Amino acid sequence: MIKIAAEILAKSKRAVVFTGAGISAESGIPTFRGQNGLWTKYDPEEVASIHGFRRNPKAFWEFSKELMIKATAEPNPAHYAIAELERIGIVRAVITQNVDMLHQKAGSRKVLELHGSFGSLECLDCGAEHCWDEVLPKVSAGDVPTCKNCKSFYVKPKVVLFGEPLPRKVLLEAIEESRFCDTFMVVGSSLVVYPAAELPFIAKRSGANMIIVNLEPTHADLIFDVVIYGKAGEVLPKIVEEVKKLKSYT
Ligand code: NAD
Ligand code: ZN
Repeated sequence: MIKIAAEILAKSKRAVVFTGAGISAESGIPTFRGQNGLWTKYDPEEVASIHGFRRNPKAFWEFSKELMIKATAEPNPAHYAIAELERIGIVRAVITQNVDMLHQKAGSRKVLELHGSFGSLECLDCGAEHCWDEVLPKVSAGDVPTCKNCKSFYVKPKVVLFGEPLPRKVLLEAIEESRFCDTFMVVGSSLVVYPAAELPFIAKRSGANMIIVNLEPTHADLIFDVVIYGKAGEVLPKIVEEVKKLKSYT
């Protein structure tokens, strides 16, 4: 299957890679679903929805620590493999549901962050921008950070919570990329969070070759031409190695 995936990618000129939390699992960041996923410990409605945040920002911050403490996380071989596919002219864009910025850290240049990122923060009440240096001491001490401008308790990282709309421009661009790609490769996503999970179906309807690399089966496996169950950090470098071999023969 790795060889078939590599053959498809080697012929591609505008592939799109669509990633989820699974690609960062080997960088030490827990996923939401699947074995040991965060939803086995936390209630998503309470800690990761905009209503939950408004109701109880403290619960959001306690939960976020699990993701943020890993701010020192480093990309793993899967992130680097995808950046390499972009560098050699095969991948045109990475569409990610992740908020950890590890694709950029690995060298990917065109990254569409469907769910925003933990990179910056803003006050929901007055719009003031905040940086982590201002917020982190309070969060680390177990307190809720407050806005330096209006004193509101609703300073929030610019990540998309359940109940919030996706950034419109990014979503439209992701739809365009999915429609025009020749290969669409999913890595580490359970494909259940909508509208992000609609993108593979858009690519399929537009005639793209479909590849998925995931630890466990997803409900959408049927639409993929190549299905590889395995760890992204092990499978992706092997695919790229094969692609490079094929490219040097053509
Ligand atoms: P998910 O948690 O729903 O699913 C993760 C999938 O990855 C599972 O199907 C699991 O089998 C698979 N997986 C686990 N380890 C893997 C590995 N080593 N290699 C390959 N696959 C592996 O994640 P999702 O589909 O991205 O959707 C959930 C939401 O989680 C997204 O909206 C995203 O914003 C958010 N999230 C992001 C991060 C992050 O930024 N790193 C972490 C947790 C959750
Ligand atoms: Zn404010």
